[in-house]
Amino acid sequence: MRELIFLTPVFKETVWGGSRLREVFGYDIPSGHTGECWGISAHKNGDCLVASGTYAGQHLSALWRDHKELFGPTADREEFPLLVKIIDAKADLSIQVHPDDAYAAAHENGSLGKMECWYILDCEPGTTIVIGHNAKNTEEMREMIREKRWGEFIRQVPVKKGDFFQIDPGCVHAIKGGTLLLETQQSSDITYRVYDYDRLSDGKPRQLHIQQSMDVIRVPFDEKAQPKPCVVKEGEAGRETRLITCGRYTCSKVDVDTSWEEDFGRDFTNVSILEGQGCVDGVPVKKGQHFIIPADYGSCCFRGKLSFIFSQPR
Ligand code: ZN
Repeated sequence: MRELIFLTPVFKETVWGGSRLREVFGYDIPSGHTGECWGISAHKNGDCLVASGTYAGQHLSALWRDHKELFGPTADREEFPLLVKIIDAKADLSIQVHPDDAYAAAHENGSLGKMECWYILDCEPGTTIVIGHNAKNTEEMREMIREKRWGEFIRQVPVKKGDFFQIDPGCVHAIKGGTLLLETQQSSDITYRVYDYDRLSDGKPRQLHIQQSMDVIRVPFDEKAQPKPCVVKEGEAGRETRLITCGRYTCSKVDVDTSWEEDFGRDFTNVSILEGQGCVDGVPVKKGQHFIIPADYGSCCFRGKLSFIFSQPR
C-alpha cells in the first residue's frame, strides 16, 4: 500500500522533564515538565492515533490487530514490537535497569523485556550519562547496592551530540540532566529503579525495585559490546549511517542534502524527522514528525534538506 502512516505523538509528564520538546520540536506539550514524546507507539500506556489519511483517528494498536498487511513478516506477533520516543531530561533520570523478554514474561504479566538505544540529539557541555557499573562479580554488585555505594558502583561516561548507545537488558543506565535524545526500544514500559537520588515526587520517594534490579543486572559490564556506527551508503545527495543491528531492531540515521531514494523492503519502517524539512513521495514533512512506511512499500523518495532516524523490527 502506497500511503505513509503519520502518527500523533503522546506526551508524558515526569519529575525530570522540561520544555524542550516544545522549544526544539514545536510540540504542543502539556506542561514545562514534559519528559517524553512517544512518537511511534502502540503500547497500552500511550497508544498513538493515526493523524491523517485512510486510517485517520485509529489507534496504532488497532491497525496492528486489523491490518496485518501493513506490517510484513513480524505482523504475526501479538504486539507491535517497537516504541520510538524523544526524551527531554531537564534533571537526571533514576539509575535503572530493564529485564529481558524471559524475565518480563515470567514476572511482569507476559510483558516484553526492554532493549533500547539512544541517539543523542543535544546536550549541555560537560554532560555525562550512566552506562554500566564497576562491580566485578555478582556478590560485589549486591554489596554495592545494599550499602548504597553509588559513586563507586555506577560507570559514567562523557556524552556529546551525535553519540549513540545501546542499552541491553540488564545494563545499568541513566540519562543525566541537559540531554535530549531519540530512543528506539522494544515496546515495553518495565523499568526497575535502583536509585533515585533520594528525590521526592508529590512529597514521597518514587518506588525502588532493588530485588528485581539485583535479579536482572548483568555482571560484569562489557564495555566492548557497544556498537560502532558506520556509514553504509554515501553520495552527493546524502549519507546513511547504520547505528545498530541487534536481536530486536535495526536503526539507521540518514542525512539528506538534496534527495534520497530507498526501498525499505519487506518490513515496515518507523521514521522520525530530526532536522530540517522537505517531502517524502510528494508529502510535505518537517522536524518532529513521526510516520510508518508500510511493508513492501517499494522505493521511497525523500527530497529537501533533512535528517531522520529509521528503525525496523527483528
Ligand atoms: Zn531505560
